[in-house]
Amino acid sequence: MTIIDGKTIARSIREDAKKRTETLRTQGVVPCLAVILAGDDPASVSYVTGKEKALAEAGMASRDIRVNADISEAELLSLIAALNEDAAVHGILVQLPLPKHIREDRVIDAVSPQKDVDGFHPASVGNMVLGRDGFLPCTPNGIVRLLRTLAVPVCGAHAVIVGRSNLVGRPLSILLTRKDVNATVTVCHTGTPDLAYHTRQADILIAAAGKAGLIAGDMVKEGAVVIDVGVNRVSDIAAKKGYRLRGDVDFEAVSRKASFITPVPGGVGPMTIAMLLLNVVRAAEKTRDA
Ligand code: NAD
Repeated sequence: MTIIDGKTIARSIREDAKKRTETLRTQGVVPCLAVILAGDDPASVSYVTGKEKALAEAGMASRDIRVNADISEAELLSLIAALNEDAAVHGILVQLPLPKHIREDRVIDAVSPQKDVDGFHPASVGNMVLGRDGFLPCTPNGIVRLLRTLAVPVCGAHAVIVGRSNLVGRPLSILLTRKDVNATVTVCHTGTPDLAYHTRQADILIAAAGKAGLIAGDMVKEGAVVIDVGVNRVSDIAAKKGYRLRGDVDFEAVSRKASFITPVPGGVGPMTIAMLLLNVVRAAEKTRDA
């Protein structure tokens, strides 16, 4: 069994982003991502901080825009409209989830597709489904990249995804069935009667349910490749912060059967950030080439 080192794989992608940033800088373009965070949810703060640190390490700029949780929807939309018009900003990321009174769809729709480095805009999703050029969502794209990096057959493999969210499960199902990836995909969700029946068929099992330890040892086929997307905070009085991060997979039990498995943390998370950097660089390159 091999524990997949997402950090190392992500590092080489970040190096690529850094080199491309250096080239852009010599051409007078500094790739810049505007990051909007509404409120101070601790998990969101930590995600935003991680992304901004990675941008800085790659030589890119970021606009850190923190607004109060009680910002009105109209104010947030006009902030996004101004960033859409700002030529120095190549990408716009609105950290989700948003405060309850703000309609997420309205905000996603407001970001210009040219700056939609999260790949959430309906135009980006449509381009992804149709196999056209556009920004791909970072977590699913990072998972495909991870699988391509491993010496495992993906073409013709049966991939079973647990979760159908717009953020992970659904877009991943689309990317995995693209002809250049060529997996056969099953998507499971809360309406799936016998989850274990499906997960046991998987050559590649991707857990993105947000339920700590959902995937037990007896739910996995011998030799399967297991990708754990879940990031769940479970309380742990022995831990410094009072909690620790756990994936959706029972790592102890499943690692005894898997051929490859991602750890949490250190698996999918670093890939998500690396793919974000690539999208920002690409957005900047597109403005240079326009
Ligand atoms: P979500 O809550 O939007 O979606 C969860 C999906 O899992 C739903 O489609 C639901 O139908 C399915 N599901 C939930 N419980 C299930 C069960 N018992 N059986 C079958 N299906 C079930 O969550 P999300 O935004 O897709 O995120 C999923 C997890 O991945 C979370 O833990 C999140 O923190 C994590 N995540 C990690 C990264 C990363 O970069 N590592 C990125 C995004 C999300």
